[in-house]
Amino acid sequence: MELSNLANIIGDSPTLKLNAKVAALKKDGQPIVHLGGGEPEFPAPSAAVEALVKKAQSRKIKYSPASGTPELKKAVTKFTKNVYGIDVENKNVVISVGAKQAIFDFLLCTVNPGDEVIYPVPYWVSYPEMIKLVGGVPIEVRPSKGLQISLEDLLKKVTPKTKAIMINVPNNPSGLMYPESFVKSIVELCEQKNIWLLTDDIYNCLVFDNNKFTSPFKYAKNPQNILAVNGVSKLYGLTGLRIGWGVSYNTELIAAMGRMQAQTTSCNSSLCEAGALGALEGDQGVIEDLRKNLEHNRNVLLGELAKIKDIEVITPQGTFYSFVNISKYNKNSMAFAEFLLDKVMLSVVPGANFGMDGYVRISYCASEENIREGLRRMLWALDKNATEPIEIGGKLVKKDW
Ligand code: PLP
Repeated sequence: MELSNLANIIGDSPTLKLNAKVAALKKDGQPIVHLGGGEPEFPAPSAAVEALVKKAQSRKIKYSPASGTPELKKAVTKFTKNVYGIDVENKNVVISVGAKQAIFDFLLCTVNPGDEVIYPVPYWVSYPEMIKLVGGVPIEVRPSKGLQISLEDLLKKVTPKTKAIMINVPNNPSGLMYPESFVKSIVELCEQKNIWLLTDDIYNCLVFDNNKFTSPFKYAKNPQNILAVNGVSKLYGLTGLRIGWGVSYNTELIAAMGRMQAQTTSCNSSLCEAGALGALEGDQGVIEDLRKNLEHNRNVLLGELAKIKDIEVITPQGTFYSFVNISKYNKNSMAFAEFLLDKVMLSVVPGANFGMDGYVRISYCASEENIREGLRRMLWALDKNATEPIEIGGKLVKKDW
């Protein structure tokens, strides 16, 4: 039997695959330190748990409206007012199975086969595959220097076939945010050229050092082409709930996204929607607690990385991630990540998965203890002068490299 062409070209999610591999090794009793993940260890907010339990106890776990319950949409309009400073109504909101489905719905609703969709490198692993899934052509923009593209870099890739641009601020994997002037220019470019703009803001409340997130909405004269995506996964550490959303002034886009859901998943889980509503209506101090914890952990990680010779990292301004240049050790990030996993049981994600070899993504959403332990192992593994064995998971490990 033959699979479709699409089935043959779509790759696995490398990060989800890595999570599964690490979970299996841990279950096997291996002393793995996982700094490759994308979910905080924080427990779910109690407001979310209470709402989930209450909904379960109601014994009414039925279909929900395809594009989300009115109560949850209302809560998202309030969140949008607080975080983006803009007024939207329920008709501007679609609730989806994670931010991921909102992004996919957007692509399904805006891209025709052969249309080009532009995104900067390094990018979140799913963008190219999702674009291919809808028949679009993924167009990468590589930064001419550093880890962030300039307007000139972007302009070189814009063609009459450009249908949409996708940005992610702060960025997974680099943790960097574009300067406000860049956000303004990209909004102007998209308005002038009639290009859709997807802004993936899933980490926009998790920023550090008093940096301020700038939304494209701030500069839009006619924001009909913008979709902002967000969700509860990163905001409250509720990755397993699978609730995200898209917000746009373009009600035709929102309605079309709802139709895509009606014909694919039918609707979101009503249980999960209740949990997400609980989180959005509950104590918002949990976000600040998470943000502060991440900022602290980022500082711990940077302090530990500074002890390792010949690697470079640009201070992340937000997210859970740092994107570390390891090219002086190995230009092949896959081989480098495999080396750390095999030799010292440390998992990090190869930069090649994000479109940039010579880098690895190291997460700081793990516990401080795990970050310190992971970096102790990495320092030892890379330090040529460290010849004494070290203890890993209660066993002495000798260098054979
Ligand atoms: N966008 C980015 C940049 C992400 O890093 C992730 C998850 O890792 C998502 C979207 C998907 O989030 P969700 O869990 O809400 O689907």
